[in-house]
Amino acid sequence: MSADVGLSLAGTISDLEVPAFVTDSHGKIVTANEKASLVLAKAVGALVGSGLSDVIGFSAAADFSSWCDEVTSHRALQAKLELTVGLSTGTKIWSVVQLQDIDDKFTGFLFQQTRSKTSVPDRSLMGILNNTDAAADVDDLVRSELRWKTAVLSANQGVWDHDFELDRHFMSDNWRAIRGIAKGAAVAETTEDWLKTIHPDDVEGIKAQIAVQEFGQTDIVNYTFRQRHADGHWMWILSRGRVVRRTANGSPARIIGTDTDVSDLKAVERERARLAKRLGMAIEAAEMGQWELHIQTDHAIWDPRALEIFGLRDGLSARPETDWAKMIHPDDRVATVAYNNACVSGQRDIACDYRIVTPDRNEKYIRTRGKYVRDEENGDYYIGVNLDLTEDHQKTLELEKAHNQLEYESRHDVLTGLANRRRLDEVFTARAVSDVIGPVGAMHLDIDRFKEINDNFGHDAGDFALKHAASILRKYLPADALPARVGGDEFVAFFPQAPHDGEMERLAKQIMTAFDEPFLYGHIRIKAGISIGIAILDQELDGSLFICADTALYHAKKNGRGMYRVYEPSMRDQASRRIELQNELILAFERDEITCHYQPQFDAHTMFLSGIEALVRWQSPVLGLVMPDHFLSTVEEMGLIAKLEDIVFVRILADIEEWIALGFHVPHVSVNITAQRLADPDLEGWIEKLNIPAGKIVFELLETAFLDCADTVVAANLRLLKRIGIDVEIDDFGTGHASIVSLLHIGPKRFKIAQELVEPTVQSPTRRALLETIIGIGKLLEIKVIAEGVETPAHVDILRDLKCDFLQGFSLARPMSAAEITAFLSQQTLRSEPVDLAVMA
Ligand code: C2E
Ligand code: MG
Ligand code: MG
Repeated sequence: MSADVGLSLAGTISDLEVPAFVTDSHGKIVTANEKASLVLAKAVGALVGSGLSDVIGFSAAADFSSWCDEVTSHRALQAKLELTVGLSTGTKIWSVVQLQDIDDKFTGFLFQQTRSKTSVPDRSLMGILNNTDAAADVDDLVRSELRWKTAVLSANQGVWDHDFELDRHFMSDNWRAIRGIAKGAAVAETTEDWLKTIHPDDVEGIKAQIAVQEFGQTDIVNYTFRQRHADGHWMWILSRGRVVRRTANGSPARIIGTDTDVSDLKAVERERARLAKRLGMAIEAAEMGQWELHIQTDHAIWDPRALEIFGLRDGLSARPETDWAKMIHPDDRVATVAYNNACVSGQRDIACDYRIVTPDRNEKYIRTRGKYVRDEENGDYYIGVNLDLTEDHQKTLELEKAHNQLEYESRHDVLTGLANRRRLDEVFTARAVSDVIGPVGAMHLDIDRFKEINDNFGHDAGDFALKHAASILRKYLPADALPARVGGDEFVAFFPQAPHDGEMERLAKQIMTAFDEPFLYGHIRIKAGISIGIAILDQELDGSLFICADTALYHAKKNGRGMYRVYEPSMRDQASRRIELQNELILAFERDEITCHYQPQFDAHTMFLSGIEALVRWQSPVLGLVMPDHFLSTVEEMGLIAKLEDIVFVRILADIEEWIALGFHVPHVSVNITAQRLADPDLEGWIEKLNIPAGKIVFELLETAFLDCADTVVAANLRLLKRIGIDVEIDDFGTGHASIVSLLHIGPKRFKIAQELVEPTVQSPTRRALLETIIGIGKLLEIKVIAEGVETPAHVDILRDLKCDFLQGFSLARPMSAAEITAFLSQQTLRSEPVDLAVMA
């Protein structure tokens, strides 16, 4: 390019109102105007002759020139080049846009410099590439101002040009477009009208800036404001421009500028502000203290909450890092400081918990989290938070304590403090899977007559007895044995290593002796016994150890309680027979196999029929006729006695009804019932439900020795029976099951002398004397006496001599089936020798 060309152009572009320069076809600047000189911060003279790479700071000028070639050969491409230029003040991005409107001679470019891809350009200038390097036509360059406008359009900016002197106002199509206004539509032209479209909150700020321009203090226009979009919503506009001419008195005559829609940027900004606020609130809500640590200076900056957490009232927010270290609990200090130092030197984030001691000697639990931030300009630093976990820690401790307590309780019996079945199973399993070899042992213990203690003295007394039992077990069992309460009044002691021969028996005897000693419950002396089953098995791992001990206990109880028995394999067979019996009995109830036999009773004086005792039988299809001794205890174990009594009553009442229907004289029928029935608060309901008639039925009470006659329910029931005419007899008098005390309390119509007392009277004069005494008691108390087990005529003679009232026994009549007794009754009736019940009463 010749110097002439440059000069002829220079005069022209100096008139342009935009920063501009012209290059030759190789991208070398041939001329530039003052505005470009200002933008590029270089004198015009210095610009001329420079390559684009020098002035713009392109790091790869070669890229630019090849890009220019590209543009020149494909002019319609609208190509855009983005170059990232690294400068000492940070990264800058130049975008170069080829202008739309190009003629053959000139290619126009818009150069815009931004800090980031989304920010608004902070430098713009126009480059005109003289393609032909031929002398340029002045008019062309003037026209290029229009191209500038085109250029800003392509950068999505709206151009405005207000000439106040000529009253000429230009707003580009894009100016309209960004506001949703149609091409060519009328818009506010005067400043006053324009201000009306601005958000009220932004008007004052703009007015203040306009005033500054008016007085010539600045030529720069730089507003950010909200303006109403045609849709009605507010949009954010960044308006940048310059006063390009002033009137003679100095006020702006012409202002040109561009508007950019920065709503998106503003939205991002707002979102950022919102997030920052939210973060601040979250930090506050979480009661976190913020801190910063500058690594080079080793100084920390703490916010007020961080100071508060550490109990620092000096308000000194900047402090040496060593201050923090001094406050750490001596036990945690070395490890915590070492960890932090390692994080610093490894440029890693910090995450640690530790204790501190505040100036007022409070111990606190602190959690610290710190983020390592790299900063080349100001030096690396940490930013982090501290949390006071003291309360949480306290709660954790409490929870842990509660958890341990629950764990303990889930494995122990609350009342006695002994292990429960779960713990017992755990210890047993642990032993089973361990390497320990040798025999294991177990004791199964059951308090004798525990139910009676409960019934007679109340549940508190029962609880007391259980605690007493636990204390005895604790006292006598060796340390390696585990005593456990496994049910109501049942205890098991597990011996992971069974002691030597005879030792378990010795222990059992000691425990039984201790139980024989009565204990004091308040002022009451209670004597409870204990039955013990012992099992010792070699390496028994399948849990049958406890079953064996239970089986042995069953035998101990069966043999009269207050005893111990050692398990023998033969017991196992009996145990399985017991289970078989239980299953059979369940079926017996279902199949209606429970029935009654009847045994007549006679007046000892007249030998007439005086009564009948109903005796339960089980008519089994497999076992035949089963006697109560063989199944009653099992029915009791199964808790089915009440059900059995119901069945027996239904049968007896049906039979009585039949005999009456046949026209027989029917004496009273004695029915064996458990004395506990007298403690039933709903005895009356039960009698009504079964429709038990008065006069014909007598309650023969079993096991009356343990009946609590002081009980108000029992007393009320006795009165009820008397009122409705059901007589009461006491069974088995003279054995441990019925005593003189029960005679006094219950006041029965009759009592029955137990077989055991009757049987030896033939051979033994002393026993005969005893019998006489018992009958004498009856006379004294005016209670009639029945003798059971009258097996021989000799017994009949003795008893008649001793003035016993009634007789029952094999020598007179055996128990018989319903059919047999029906035949028996018909003979009795035919003999028409009825027994007068009034005589018996
Ligand atoms: P228990 O009430 O003392 O009944 C008398 C038992 O003596 C009956 O035995 C009877 O067959 C038997 N017996 C009668 N005369 C003689 C005799 O001369 N010599 C001998 N050695 N025994 C004689 P059983 O029927 O086997 O009843 C045994 C026990 O079963 C009864 O003793 C009673 O305690 C109980 N029992 C019977 N039926 C029922 C019932 O329906 N309910 C309840 N809960 N227990 C019943
Ligand atoms: Mg009886
Ligand atoms: Mg009896």
